[in-house]
Amino acid sequence: MAKVLQARDLTRYYDVAQGMFKPKAQVKALAGVSFELEAGRTLAVVGESGCGKSTLARQLTLIEQPTSGSLLLDGQDAAQAGSAELKAMRRKVQMVFQNPYGSLNPRQKIGDQLSEPLLINTDLSAKAREEKVRAMMTRVGLRPEHYFRYPHMFSGGQRQRIAIARAMMLNPKIVVADEPTSALDVSIQAQVLNLFMDLQEEFNTAYVFISHNLAVVEHVANDLMVMYLGRAVEVGDKSRVYGRPLHPYTQALLSATPSIHPEDRRIKIKIEGELPSPLNPPSGCAFHKRCPHAAERCKVEVPQLRELDARMVACHRAEEING
Ligand code: SF4
Repeated sequence: MAKVLQARDLTRYYDVAQGMFKPKAQVKALAGVSFELEAGRTLAVVGESGCGKSTLARQLTLIEQPTSGSLLLDGQDAAQAGSAELKAMRRKVQMVFQNPYGSLNPRQKIGDQLSEPLLINTDLSAKAREEKVRAMMTRVGLRPEHYFRYPHMFSGGQRQRIAIARAMMLNPKIVVADEPTSALDVSIQAQVLNLFMDLQEEFNTAYVFISHNLAVVEHVANDLMVMYLGRAVEVGDKSRVYGRPLHPYTQALLSATPSIHPEDRRIKIKIEGELPSPLNPPSGCAFHKRCPHAAERCKVEVPQLRELDARMVACHRAEEING
């Protein structure tokens, strides 16, 4: 399988003003994230708000440059690309946002909004563009008469279908979906997730699916990356990580995820306290102040990702904890 995305040690730091006469502080929003993604596969990125998921999304969609590290998109290094090459690369990676209403122009008819990427990036005639738009609308479950309607005339689920259609118009290699179902009713969420999966099967698109909700991504993911304060703490095949999570943070997140299968119900593990500020992260393992298994070593030494039980995990005590 072709690798469409290769992220190596991506970091993103932001300088933050702390007031007059004080030096700027540095927030390490992304502190060295690596992964690879193949065509037709889905990587789910999970963690609490503030863990670096959305910063990662901005790097992957080339909205921002990383502070260090490298990003290869369809084999091409984003850092080495000139402006024309970057423009071509941006066509290959599209984004679907949490709130589709915010990403649609309220004054423009849906047909025109879906046609816009084709108008900007292709030489297709107006007739050919309309044909393509109408075919994609049908593909995502919209009706022909929707072509002339405005965004406010649709339900939340329909608007997300429009946003997905727009993301797919240029047949991208990668779609980064940032909490794409969290603003929708539960009854609609499953339909939208199924649409994502059907389109992936048809177009062989790779997805990076960002969510705070492990139950949502279980349905769509092949691989899972759990993030905590800008770092990946557990990365691996979905069924392995869901079946036997090894990192205490993954264990706590999964124990809080409702399951309809009685055999899957786990003992609840409560994570104490709030996610620490990335402005002033704890020393050693960033999770140590909330971890029920923290030891002295955890307070001073940053655990690195290492292979254990066919996945990567960043915990000094993973073997002891998991027997
Ligand atoms: Fe907990 Fe220590 Fe493992 Fe961090 S390294 S998750 S503090 S046991």
